[in-house]
Amino acid sequence: MPAPRRFRNIAGLGPVEVGTAHDHRGRTKHTAACTAPRCGFSAEYDTRSAAELAARTHRCPAH
Ligand SMILES: [Zn+2]
Repeated sequence: MPAPRRFRNIAGLGPVEVGTAHDHRGRTKHTAACTAPRCGFSAEYDTRSAAELAARTHRCPAH
């Protein structure tokens, strides 16, 4: 059973949350994921600022 992804530094930017996690190779990934149930937007970025920018500019079709 794989270890759960542990998010930290979660920040809500509108409906989008940005979380920092380590993937199974130990690399730090920054994930922006929309919390709107019918949106499904989720993307990973190499930098925190890129993920936050994506969160801020996300135009949610379900919000
Ligand atoms: Zn959305």
